[in-house]
Amino acid sequence: MFELTGRVALVTGASRGIGRAIAGRLAEQGAIVVAAARGDHAHGTAADLTSKGWRAEAVSLDVTDQAAVERLPGAIIERHGRLDIVVSNAGITRDQLLMRMKRDDWDAVLATNLTATFSLAQAAMRPMLRQRGGRIIAVSSVVGQMGNAGQTNYAASKAGLIGFAKALAREVASRGITVNVVAPGMIETDMTRAITEKAQVDWAAQIPLGRLGVPDDVASAVCFLASDEASYITGHVLAVNGGMYM
Ligand code: NDP
Repeated sequence: MFELTGRVALVTGASRGIGRAIAGRLAEQGAIVVAAARGDHAHGTAADLTSKGWRAEAVSLDVTDQAAVERLPGAIIERHGRLDIVVSNAGITRDQLLMRMKRDDWDAVLATNLTATFSLAQAAMRPMLRQRGGRIIAVSSVVGQMGNAGQTNYAASKAGLIGFAKALAREVASRGITVNVVAPGMIETDMTRAITEKAQVDWAAQIPLGRLGVPDDVASAVCFLASDEASYITGHVLAVNGGMYM
């Protein structure tokens, strides 16, 4: 679909769900994919991709470990000589009404979903500036655009990503680096499987396209934004939500 042969891509949260699908789609298009998750969680993803003849490797990364995040781009350059695409996808929820939300739940969600993207983008910036090119793609959410009761922490983190990406896009555009956001709606993954079947049916009823999304729907959008075909697109928020928010 989009030619990415020889590009080196880092995908966080690549052990399952959306991140795993993104890693797969980028590898299928020829990219060398560094699939990151905690512990050995991304090993299955890398093994699956290499078994198909694509190029991938797993790394252990907790995105809230700032020192580890800062080291990773340098390590990728050492191994592969370049870093072209960074997809900041790792994310968590800790849902609770604000009245009952613990400060820890706020801090954990902001650290994983927003601050980690700051650290990762900053660490990737130096090699990308040297290369005079790169793609940074953050995975936000429809919840960052429209809000959702019980998710003030998550909505703040995901809306924060949009502001962050637009500001950074302006800083680095003259160096050939684009910064974009994908904002998925309700996608079938572990994250949404945690909600009841009835709630899923209720959500689907609010989606004009009449179904929940699948991880590949998001992966296709990311793959496009990573490609040469998207070279004139920056600071954009690409909704992948079946029309649930327009
Ligand atoms: P999953 O819960 O299925 O997967 C989450 C991924 O994030 C896992 O790979 C997990 O890795 C990783 N992760 C979580 N915390 C950390 C951490 N501290 N360090 C490193 N990796 C971490 O989620 P989804 O695939 O559904 O979501 C992916 C992204 O898409 C998230 O940012 C989410 O907010 C966003 N999104 C999801 C939607 C949906 O409907 N599913 C809708 C809109 C946005 P590990 O194996 O280490 O736990």
